[in-house]
Amino acid sequence: MVDLPDRTTQFIDWYLAVVEAAELTDKRYPVKGLNVWTTYGLRARRRLDALLVQEIERTGSNPVEFPTLIPQTEFAKEAEHIRGFDAQVYWVTRGGETPLDVPLVLRPTSETAIYPVFQKWIRSHRDLPLNVYQIVNTFRYETKTTRPFLRVREIHFFEEHTCQVDDDAATARVRSNLETAKAIVRALALPCAFLRRPEWDKFPGAYYTVALDVPLGEARTLQIGTIHHYRENFSRPYGLLYETATGEQRYVHQTTFGLSERLLGAVVAIHGDQKGVVFPTSIAPYEVVVVPVPGAGADVGSLARDVADRLGRAGVRVVVDTGDERPGAKYYRWELKGVPLRLEIGPREASGGSVTAVDRLGKKGSIPIATLEAGVRGRLAEFDAALYARATERFSTAFRRVDSIEALRDGRAVAVVEWCGAEACGHQIEAAVDGSLLGTPEAPLPLPTLGEPRSCLVCGTAAGTRWAVAGRPL
Ligand code: ZN
Repeated sequence: MVDLPDRTTQFIDWYLAVVEAAELTDKRYPVKGLNVWTTYGLRARRRLDALLVQEIERTGSNPVEFPTLIPQTEFAKEAEHIRGFDAQVYWVTRGGETPLDVPLVLRPTSETAIYPVFQKWIRSHRDLPLNVYQIVNTFRYETKTTRPFLRVREIHFFEEHTCQVDDDAATARVRSNLETAKAIVRALALPCAFLRRPEWDKFPGAYYTVALDVPLGEARTLQIGTIHHYRENFSRPYGLLYETATGEQRYVHQTTFGLSERLLGAVVAIHGDQKGVVFPTSIAPYEVVVVPVPGAGADVGSLARDVADRLGRAGVRVVVDTGDERPGAKYYRWELKGVPLRLEIGPREASGGSVTAVDRLGKKGSIPIATLEAGVRGRLAEFDAALYARATERFSTAFRRVDSIEALRDGRAVAVVEWCGAEACGHQIEAAVDGSLLGTPEAPLPLPTLGEPRSCLVCGTAAGTRWAVAGRPL
């Protein structure tokens, strides 16, 4: 039995303990920030990758895979981008004993790997839009405290890169990515804020950045993804020109969409409880665990295997726990690992024609064996709906409208404030929350009573005032 730290009062300690106890990762690799993907965690990650692929391919994006190493000469072409990443890159400077003529960067992100090749792929307007994505590992020399899935030095990363004919088409791609992001977080039962970052906090080289943020309790937030509009900021230095229908040469407008293993960290952090992980069925390594409960006069083992076989044939991811521990110890372990639904099969179930079903949120019932597959599907759908309802309730109470600098300092919730858009006012808001001005909503916040913003919290001006969100990013 593992005694997890209290999730409410020792959130980070709880998180670190639960990812290990549930066997999602092994942190003992001898390089800081590089963790081992153990079998159970990897199964969840593969489910997550499949979800991302399904959702992005719906929108006409195609898979590619570019090399991990980027020549310094390409990496250095977009000045602002390089300033943003220079301190975080790993360098490869030797091949065997020979110093390399051109040192190589281990990709921290892939713009500078991909765009020199886009330059060769794009000739005419008929080559556009070019929408491609890859799921690869990226590397960042992270100097802050590393934490599994949330801040690591080798990052499992999804990145879409697109080239469009003009600003409007790129803006439309950003809107499309927002809808894709909504579908992904909905499948993970993770309510999310979509915030346009302020100028001083956008991605290096971007025209603007829309981030996906989830609240983690008190004023803490976690960025789980980003969508960037680049305009011509990369296409100019990389020479990404195309010929229009009338024979003019124009630069493409570009966008990117990035997600990472942080999504898995967010699932653990947001849905988890004092018993452990709670997986939504979409990425659960197993949707159902079958536990035989031995007793007199019944072959519960063979019934358990039959039940699992039927579910497996129906496409349900199922595991039977045939170990020799007490049933209670098995319940405990599979709750820790976050399996959505447990089926208990004892002598009573064997003779009564039904199985006992307990979901990970504690709801108990029974499912007739005659209609097992439909019954299990129904219970899993109910569980997902209940998980989403619980997360939505937590999400809406994580934000609070704040109308004075003094009240910003209490830090008990993510703050929603009125802001004129001026950087100086933004920095005063950041100082008061001891965190960041995360941005202005791209989609309505879950606070129906907000109404229209009137005047800036800091300077009192009415002109250009909008709602903004401030918190402390993890
Ligand atoms: Zn102001």
